[in-house]
Amino acid sequence: MSNSYDELVINYHVTEICNYSCKFCYAKWGRPNEIHTQGNNAELMLEKLASYFFNDEGNKVKDEFPYKSVRINFAGGEPLILKKRFSQLIVKTKELGFNLSIITNGHYLTNAFIDNYGSLFSMIGISFDSQYSDARKNIGRIDRKGNSFDEADLINTVARLRAVNSSITVKVNTVVNTLNYKESFTTLMTELNLDKWKVFQVLPVLNSHLLVTDEEFSEFVLHHAKLQDFMVVEDNDAMTNSYLMINPQGRFYQNSQTEEGYKYGELILDVRVDLALSVCAINWETFTSRYKKDAINDAVDLIDNNEYQFKQKEQSSVVSEG
Ligand code: SF4
Repeated sequence: MSNSYDELVINYHVTEICNYSCKFCYAKWGRPNEIHTQGNNAELMLEKLASYFFNDEGNKVKDEFPYKSVRINFAGGEPLILKKRFSQLIVKTKELGFNLSIITNGHYLTNAFIDNYGSLFSMIGISFDSQYSDARKNIGRIDRKGNSFDEADLINTVARLRAVNSSITVKVNTVVNTLNYKESFTTLMTELNLDKWKVFQVLPVLNSHLLVTDEEFSEFVLHHAKLQDFMVVEDNDAMTNSYLMINPQGRFYQNSQTEEGYKYGELILDVRVDLALSVCAINWETFTSRYKKDAINDAVDLIDNNEYQFKQKEQSSVVSEG
């Protein structure tokens, strides 16, 4: 392969625990022993990953996808719920030479955290599904005390991140579902001046809550077509086999090709990284396409051509949206 790519992304789902309980959440791994609770095992795993991914020798991933740098994207569950332990892990991740990002529901993205650690991140993705509290409540984006990360929180958080780290990439992720597909985000997303607004069609991975039809999802996309400069549409096909993923236990995993659910590799700490990776039947064409295409333009072109058909949703998503 002659192309080279800026960044390889490894999604590390550091914990399954979350303060919210979204009905469409697929961040479920059966609550295995999470490696961050086992002494310094999470740090040792990160060290092992650094020595594999920062070396060329025997690096099969780099052969297929010649990246220049590697980003660890912390996801969950809600990574920030780990508080001090999470801070330790991100400091270690940066020390090892990885780029750093997080997908979060925003709830614990406090001013103190942003002021202390905001400069370490190259990207922060915040999940935000509705400007209406009733919709957030019915989706499950609400904690046991009834608190929910709202529009004002989102505006304040993005402003603080930009004040602390002027080069940070700020993304918002929205899962389009039955409770928000008619909602207009145009004013909010424009005012936030985002680098990227990612919209996902809710996926029938572990259950079929709040599913929208392909037509309803298209309606949402078309309604926001004027945001195409920074809106990115992820259809289910594009979301298949496109990231490297690690579960809270410290195993690479991949979507099962034959049944719903995941296929897991050996514990990364127990075997060579290339063996731990062998579970990942990576679709390199999809993987590389993520780094090239302007998905919204593709989507709008397809809609214009009346060809906006999603493939059979038999495979599951790989992107935790926090
Ligand atoms: S989708 Fe994200 S915010 Fe919602 S319960 Fe799952 S991990 Fe938590």
